[in-house]
Amino acid sequence: MARNYDFAFKESSNSSTRSHYGHGSKPTGITIHHWGSTGQKFENVVAWLRGPKGGTSNRGSSAHYVVEAGRVNQLVGDSRAAWHAGSTAGNGSTIGVECRPEMSDGDWATLVQLCADIEEEHGSMKYYGHKDWKSTACPGSYYAQLGKLVKDVNAEHAARKKGGTTAPKPSKPSEPSKPNRPVGDVPGPGYDFPWPSGHYIGPKSGPDRSHSGFYKNRKWSGQYDEVWLKRFASQLALRGWSVGKGKTYLSKFGNDGRFGAEYEALIRAFQKSQGLAIDGLGGRDTWDEAFKKPVT
Ligand SMILES: [Zn+2]
Repeated sequence: MARNYDFAFKESSNSSTRSHYGHGSKPTGITIHHWGSTGQKFENVVAWLRGPKGGTSNRGSSAHYVVEAGRVNQLVGDSRAAWHAGSTAGNGSTIGVECRPEMSDGDWATLVQLCADIEEEHGSMKYYGHKDWKSTACPGSYYAQLGKLVKDVNAEHAARKKGGTTAPKPSKPSEPSKPNRPVGDVPGPGYDFPWPSGHYIGPKSGPDRSHSGFYKNRKWSGQYDEVWLKRFASQLALRGWSVGKGKTYLSKFGNDGRFGAEYEALIRAFQKSQGLAIDGLGGRDTWDEAFKKPVT
């Protein structure tokens, strides 16, 4: 195998045998995914898919590979089924590859290299987008490029036969890798919505069901509202959102647990990226999307 990229295998236990889905251990296709919202970091996507205990806990979602320019992280061995397609046939027969939604030239080149390596090992693959298996926006702009992917992978095989490659010279990934530090309160492994149904994160001026973080008259699910607001924003940061002082969201006041225009903007952006109703208020749907749904 050529491996014209940095490669790591950080295993996730979120996988099954392919026979569990009624398929043989040999994959016959590749399903392309993207990780949804732009601006998320590779490391955070890998960490998210491995789950809170570093690959040993059940996230209910995984992929075989996470790819960006110049590097690949494998989570599940090719002969096993990752939980990526939302379909028996998709999980049973294909390899799931999570790609960077920005789709830079470098991201694309590394994806081509990985697919060529997979085909060298397992033979020719059929190519799918996630939406071929279930109703989803995934894999975004990659979907229209699946034909080009097949062409570019074939060109890579031809180049390799002549002892060459179509891969550009290795370059550093677009962003330096930084440790995955949550903002404010460290979130635990998922929290249930802390308030009664119909309540939400919202302005101080709102009704009693609007939790702004300004008041300490009552704890909900064991914590003051301020802590829950911080945990919500920290969870988005863990999912790769740029959150905190000097960052893209909560840039001025940071994650202070007091609802205002900055929290509203963050919630709106998150709702938009996830296809939720956009109201800038953190209700149960928005909360569950942040804590319970996978990145893709
Ligand atoms: Zn997907």
